[in-house]
Amino acid sequence: MDTYSQIVVASRPTGTPTSKNFRVETGPIPAAADGQVLLRTKYLSLDPYMRGRMNDAKSYATPVSIGGIMEGEVVAEVLKSKHPDYRQGDLVQGRIGWRTHAAVEPTDLKRVETGGNPATTALGVLGMPGFTAYSGMKVIGQPKPGETVVVAAASGPVGSLVGQLAQLSGARAIGIAGGPEKCAYMRDELKFDAVIDHRADDMPEALAKSCPDGIDVYFENVGGPIWQAVLPLLNRYARIPACGLIAHYNGPGAAEQDSLSSTMLAMVRRSLLMRGFINTEFVDDHYDDFMRDLIPLVACGHIRYREDIVDGLNNAPEAFIGMLSGRNFGKLLIRVS
Ligand code: NDP
Repeated sequence: MDTYSQIVVASRPTGTPTSKNFRVETGPIPAAADGQVLLRTKYLSLDPYMRGRMNDAKSYATPVSIGGIMEGEVVAEVLKSKHPDYRQGDLVQGRIGWRTHAAVEPTDLKRVETGGNPATTALGVLGMPGFTAYSGMKVIGQPKPGETVVVAAASGPVGSLVGQLAQLSGARAIGIAGGPEKCAYMRDELKFDAVIDHRADDMPEALAKSCPDGIDVYFENVGGPIWQAVLPLLNRYARIPACGLIAHYNGPGAAEQDSLSSTMLAMVRRSLLMRGFINTEFVDDHYDDFMRDLIPLVACGHIRYREDIVDGLNNAPEAFIGMLSGRNFGKLLIRVS
């Protein structure tokens, strides 16, 4: 690869993004100045939060500007170093965005440290999504032996770890996902105690049947009709780590209901604890424990993960759009080089 490519936001999406909202730009590979490293991206992580960065709206992070490079974390190789701490061939991770190369000061980079697990895990089960599941469960969910934990988007990197951590703490894990293939994977490989297909007409009834003792922890990744089905089943003192609402990221859907009053009433009557969070707020207190606990569990296969790897940076927009409707199956990565 001797030219450089990057993908920028061409226009703001209305509803579901289309390929027209992105633009591929090419040019000569940049040179590293003194104090910089030249990186070649190996893997780019595609994550649901990126949809929010495409909106010009106030949030916990600033949006990507029109013409700006799409934001994202990568695993990259140092091609050239003009910084004393890095050498050619070093493997690093950092938020350099959707591009093949970058010449940057290494202040926000860190070395890939996965304890012998594949480097791709630094973007998934041993990276930001894994830490999100770990910290959300540890700080907010706090599952106890015998309790029932429910999670949706359960075949993805956040949900699949939530379910496995629930089981490690002695709780029952119920996973919700779209379609029979994902459900079979969760049942047969991840060993969830029960799995529910949210595309099936009888989803609320199937969920109720799988939770005869109610729900003690609902790890919220999705919202929408799944939240409607979960709400009546929540037990007194249930905990709800509010992690994401992917069913709403493309704007209001046809089936959307306003559930604010029913949610608030349930919170009062059943003393529910709902706590929203962004994983970064827990880094200082919990990141070292996460790495110490998870690296060996992943290495010995006790914690399982699945990756969905798409080749070529130019395919990132389609893969990203597909993820927002469930076309990915596992942690979505672009193999850039
Ligand atoms: P996934 O890889 O699981 O991909 C998203 C999945 O969401 C899709 O595959 C699809 O799975 C499911 N989905 C999409 N639309 C719907 C819908 N309308 N109804 C039900 N399911 C839907 O993503 P991640 O594991 O990376 O992220 C999961 C959640 O965690 C997201 O909400 C994300 O924003 C959030 N998150 C929050 C963080 C934080 O710090 N708070 C950090 C990281 C992630 P299916 O086919 O099963 O429907």
